[in-house]
Amino acid sequence: TEAGTQRRAHAPISVSFEFFPPKTDAMEASLWQAIRKLEPLAPEFVSVTYGAGGSTRERTHSTVSRILAETSLKPAAHLTCVAATKDEVDAVVRDYWDAGVRHIVALRGDPPAGAGTAYAAHPGGYQSSADLVAGLKTIGDFEVSVSAYPEKHPESGSFDVDLDVLQAKVDAGATRAITQFFFDNDHYWRYLDRVRARGINIPIVPGQIPIHNFKQIAGFAARCGATMPASTAARFEGLADDPETTQLVAAAVAAEQVRDLVKGGVTEFHFYTLNRAPLVNAICHTLGIKPHAPAASAVNA
Ligand code: FAD
Repeated sequence: TEAGTQRRAHAPISVSFEFFPPKTDAMEASLWQAIRKLEPLAPEFVSVTYGAGGSTRERTHSTVSRILAETSLKPAAHLTCVAATKDEVDAVVRDYWDAGVRHIVALRGDPPAGAGTAYAAHPGGYQSSADLVAGLKTIGDFEVSVSAYPEKHPESGSFDVDLDVLQAKVDAGATRAITQFFFDNDHYWRYLDRVRARGINIPIVPGQIPIHNFKQIAGFAARCGATMPASTAARFEGLADDPETTQLVAAAVAAEQVRDLVKGGVTEFHFYTLNRAPLVNAICHTLGIKPHAPAASAVNA
């Protein structure tokens, strides 16, 4: 049929959403508002971050458990191996497996003494992210996603070292890499070329962060080594006190960026939602991703 032909003509796009565990009741309420708004978009999975040094261990677990219990979403739990023994990490992993979690985003984590200092593995812990991935696989047949850095990791001496690390994670069983966010797609394309030239064939899913607040996102970018192009910064100039216009500009900027990525063949996106739905929801709509079914909460309301 014509409709069938049209459907085949468009590569299906899939998305995933990242949340962070809330610290207060008010933050919990706004997180759940965001989850309910985004749930009908039927993301591939939603992930929940793990605080630096495992500082949110319980909160990550309870957020993941609530997603499993109360939504139709498939949760992925972020986990780091910094400042913890193997036994401590393995106990967290077994709890996830027993709770029904089947997807882990496995990370090394930031240096225990803070960003900018040298990383030191815990003597009794997993020595690297690849070591953690291998450990996870001995506990359960988890789907394992890992990180990738289109502009290099801030501690990295060269792309070659980064690619060695990525290769080691793939060899240990990782089947998807999610990138650090970036604002200039050329960084992504060049990185993808390097990855493929190394014979690494897992999906390299672009991580996207909507610029809901320019100053805040520019600050994140500076800290994690993502370049903020002058042309992007210029679009937000003069809007520091105008959140409403900022949202509109941010939606336009993000729509352009994802459209260019789709043109280049990207079919999977990961959104750093910062626990906010509106911009991510708008960008998904521009990608053609519409609600599949009313959210349970909307039906019950
Ligand atoms: P890896 O991929 O293991 O390594 C990062 C880089 O360090 C390498 O590319 C390389 O340059 C260098 N390196 C590592 N090992 C060696 C070695 N043996 N020799 C030389 N160089 C080496 N942090 C959190 O605390 N909680 C989270 O939930 C979280 N989620 C994240 C999700 C995504 C998608 C991304 C991209 C990052 C996330 N982070 C999170 C941040 C991450 O923990 C930090 O960037 C950390 O510094 C590196 O962890 P990694 O697993 O990316 O490191």
